[in-house]
Amino acid sequence: RQEQYRQLKDTPAVTLDGQAISILVNAGLLVDLPHVAEAGAAGIGLFRTELQFMVAETLPRIREQQLLYRSVLDAAGSLPVTFRSLDVGGDKVLPYLRSTQEENPALGWRAIRMALDRPALLRTQIRGLLHAAAGREMRLMFPMITEVNEFDRARDLVDRERRHLERHGHAVPDKILLGAMVEVPSLLWQLEELVARVDFLSVGSNDLMQFLFAIDRTNSQLAERFDPLSPGPMRALRRIVEAAEEGGVPVTLCGELAGDPLSAMALLGIGYRSISMAPAAVGPVKAMVLSLDLGALESWLRPELHKPHTGLRKELSAYAQSHGV
Ligand code: PEP
Ligand code: MG
Repeated sequence: RQEQYRQLKDTPAVTLDGQAISILVNAGLLVDLPHVAEAGAAGIGLFRTELQFMVAETLPRIREQQLLYRSVLDAAGSLPVTFRSLDVGGDKVLPYLRSTQEENPALGWRAIRMALDRPALLRTQIRGLLHAAAGREMRLMFPMITEVNEFDRARDLVDRERRHLERHGHAVPDKILLGAMVEVPSLLWQLEELVARVDFLSVGSNDLMQFLFAIDRTNSQLAERFDPLSPGPMRALRRIVEAAEEGGVPVTLCGELAGDPLSAMALLGIGYRSISMAPAAVGPVKAMVLSLDLGALESWLRPELHKPHTGLRKELSAYAQSHGV
């Protein structure tokens, strides 16, 4: 099997009926980079910048951040890389940063919330990234956006830093694309406003499912209890694609769901065309894509979503079996 997947490395991810699917990888450290090329992915859909901060003993300086970002861009070559701004706080504690004790850290002062309250950290990171991506395309997204104005404020910070560098005669990126992660359910009711502002969206299904179901994503006792492949969450995921299409904004899904072939099939069936996953999942997901008649799946799945049934996962897996996916 592994060998079979390796052979697919250079095969484009196109379904039986000719739909091109963008299969991207999630990464976060330099050691991940060789896997991007080995996996035969179309780019990095999520680069978790907090990993550099989490493995460090002291706050990484701008120079170190910049070096990492430049190495990532160099390694990716012409393939796109989407960086995510620091997603720390809450349970991802940095020992060298003062933190407050919180009752519910996952719902706490974390990610963009912390970044906007204490912008020095985010501004440094943005400046490092602007330097690293000088002369190329820079893609950056913000985690845990809960209200659209948080995205506006983050965009302002980027604009301010870019203008600052330009004023001082530094080279800046040729193009800057800014996106929001959709992982807090409140955004589901602000999608129109959101797509009017962003250059792209990325669905963080790990957190989105955690918050939709109100289950701690790290609690193994609850892990099997609620199924993302059931009508409620699938309708929510479908709604995001629809809004993105209406707004003409590209959307990727970068949570663990994307790396499971059956779930990935379901995601394609509800309209996703770009998914980002752990490098080891690329082979199995690409094999699924190559054996899929997407038009047929869509015709079957779309009406299923509107039925009030409780066995969607079973139906999906029976569909995959009977259609040789
Ligand atoms: C997610 O929430 O789905 C996601 C991709 O980000 P993380 O797992 O790093 O929270
Ligand atoms: Mg997340």
